[in-house]
Amino acid sequence: MQKLAIVGGGISGLSLAYYLQNDFEVSVFEKDKWGGKAYTQKIGNYLMEEGVNGFLSNSPRTLELCESIGIKPVMANENAKKRFIFDDKLIFLPVKPFDFLKSDIMSFGAKIRILKEFFIKPVCDKEESAAEFADRRFGKEFTKKMMIPMLAGIYASTPEKTSMNAAFPKLKKIECEYGSLFKGMMKLKKGGQPSGELHSFEYGISEFIQILKNKTKAEFINKEIKDIDELESFDKVVIAAPAYEAAEILKRYEKLSTLLSKIEYNPVAIVGFDYEDIKPVGFGILSIKERTLGILMDKYIFPNRNGIRVMVGGARYPEIQKMSQEEIIEIAKKDVEKMTGAKNPKFTWIKVHKNAIPNYSLGHQKLVEEIMNEAKKNSVILTGNAYNGVSFNDCIKNSFNLALEIKK
Ligand SMILES: Cc1cc2nc3c(=O)[nH]c(=O)nc-3n(C[C@H](O)[C@H](O)[C@H](O)COP(=O)(O)OP(=O)(O)OC[C@H]3O[C@@H](n4cnc5c(N)ncnc54)[C@H](O)[C@@H]3O)c2cc1C
Repeated sequence: MQKLAIVGGGISGLSLAYYLQNDFEVSVFEKDKWGGKAYTQKIGNYLMEEGVNGFLSNSPRTLELCESIGIKPVMANENAKKRFIFDDKLIFLPVKPFDFLKSDIMSFGAKIRILKEFFIKPVCDKEESAAEFADRRFGKEFTKKMMIPMLAGIYASTPEKTSMNAAFPKLKKIECEYGSLFKGMMKLKKGGQPSGELHSFEYGISEFIQILKNKTKAEFINKEIKDIDELESFDKVVIAAPAYEAAEILKRYEKLSTLLSKIEYNPVAIVGFDYEDIKPVGFGILSIKERTLGILMDKYIFPNRNGIRVMVGGARYPEIQKMSQEEIIEIAKKDVEKMTGAKNPKFTWIKVHKNAIPNYSLGHQKLVEEIMNEAKKNSVILTGNAYNGVSFNDCIKNSFNLALEIKK
């Protein structure tokens, strides 16, 4: 049997090992923690996710993988449907389009502008930033109140710094196929497309990672790979580490390494707290201009969580990279008080990711194409969240597809 090395034991590397376990003699190398950004810390009664909080049930590959390794995801309770944004005051975010139009989330003029989306011509021949896209289709007030929080929550980025085509390819596809997002959404709903419910695991994401690892026939080696030369004895090598780490491991391929190092990452600190009776009860709050990007009320939506988590930094406030943990905790505490009124947490915890999430900047898709071409020339295989999707679901789907390609 051929020997396959996978560098990186995050969800991308581990799911790939699972999918290829019967076709290769697989070895997975991990320099730090199994799970990577999918890691749960248990501190007394508190389960604190360092990264992934949950996933939507609209990606069949993730659900199939859960079933195949024998773990049942838990669905978030009804509170998860209550979402808020903070724009100098707390605003409830209605989920249904009609409720959205009835709410006071935006001015009357902005609502009329949003409805004009039906008649705005699609732009399909050039790349746009998420800000340009949202301004053009829905107007500037929508960009401020909806795109800024959304980009902070998913990519820890800003609409100006994000390529709409790379970060939201499905929305761009709908725009170009149906002429308008509203028209497309209406048609797709008629076709019965599921939107997905938020899920996680009873004891956090590490429960899933542990089971996935146990169910995979592979050699798991805790070791940092510094250079691809160390893996000469393998028939195939897959690098499933972040792009800046891949650049280092592949430094002997100068052009490939330079291209990989062009993918920027945003820093995020996750600060865990617990407050007596913190309000609002719901999924959480996303902010528009604070150094805190959002507050996730984990304890109100999933079992066994008991605390809340505050995301600080991102592209909006990269200065956290140079700050002490105490300084970041102070920022989080002040912002929680400003947004919810809660004071004096009875529990505090922090995890700082200096390079948390790749930024899908303008030109990302072209850059990824160049990277993949160059990797192919050098017989190197790359996967992970740096290229074609950052979500937990995307990582699993991409590993599934890559496994099929490798088997071929
Ligand atoms: C704070 C935060 C919150 C998030 N929340 C969500 C969420 O709620 N839902 C969601 O869908 N997604 C979420 N994400 C995104 C998602 O967690 C990640 O995109 C995904 O987990 C990345 O998986 P990966 O395997 O590609 O990379 P990683 O998890 O980064 O794994 C790469 C692994 O490679 C290892 N490695 C690096 N260099 C080497 C080397 N030289 N030798 C050996 N090993 C090496 C690293 O230690 C790491 O374990 C979140 C991300 C963050 C940071």
